[in-house]
Amino acid sequence: MVVTRFAPSPNGSLHLGHAYSAVTAHDIARQRGGRFLLRIEDIDGVRSLPEKADEFRRDLEWLGLEWDEVPAQSTRLEDYEQVAQYLLHEGLLYPCTCTRKEIEALNPRSGPEGAVYPGTCKGQALDPTKPVALRLDVAAALAQTGELFWEDEVDGTQIANPRGFGDVVLVRKDAPASYHLAATLDDAADGVTLVTRGEDLFDATHIHRVLQELLGLPVPLWHHHPILLDEQGQKLAKRRHSPSLAERRRAGEDGRALADGMRAGRFPAGITLATA
Ligand code: GLU
Repeated sequence: MVVTRFAPSPNGSLHLGHAYSAVTAHDIARQRGGRFLLRIEDIDGVRSLPEKADEFRRDLEWLGLEWDEVPAQSTRLEDYEQVAQYLLHEGLLYPCTCTRKEIEALNPRSGPEGAVYPGTCKGQALDPTKPVALRLDVAAALAQTGELFWEDEVDGTQIANPRGFGDVVLVRKDAPASYHLAATLDDAADGVTLVTRGEDLFDATHIHRVLQELLGLPVPLWHHHPILLDEQGQKLAKRRHSPSLAERRRAGEDGRALADGMRAGRFPAGITLATA
């Protein structure tokens, strides 16, 4: 049975791009007789706003969607910690005390998440007074996994190539997991068989596939859908664009009609679907 999910982070209101993502994941599940899950990804420290989760539920209802909700990430912190300890013990993570500023000052190459960490702390004795993040030793990880593949319903078979990210953070200084570790573990724990999300997260899948292999997790399929663009051809962003779904809802707009329009390829004025 296919299991899809929508996994928003409650650090701002949802926008039309989220609506498109939720409708896509919902409809795939319904068309194939499967389940559609909602997971609140609320481990963003002070940026996570608890009241947003309720707003999201009302937004989804307004769009006419039905879902099963799985536990929010903030209830799973111990699971993340345990797995991080295991990876550390296996020599696959190393501590890093560098700040973003320090990394940028090294003028590193740029990757999907900005400046790529040049590995400064790898093999260094750690300064115990500084807060520590844990990074994946990608070279060590790949030596263990060998070449890996993953399958995208939209884009076909992919070779997992996480090197573009450099040694990514799996445990943040301020949280027991980064997005990559938490989402990978949760998708497995929630029985997600088809990871449905925007193409803007396509590259993250290279990392997730490697983590699955290191941790012996089941390997789902992926469906990275095109994202919505604004008049300037830019990705919609939580802060930059109004109105949010909540504002549209409160203004009396018909959410079901909005969802149906998107299904038929019709978007509100100025909004387009990115073409590959
Ligand atoms: N929580 C992520 C976000 O809101 C989405 C993660 C995912 O779909 O894998 O951008």
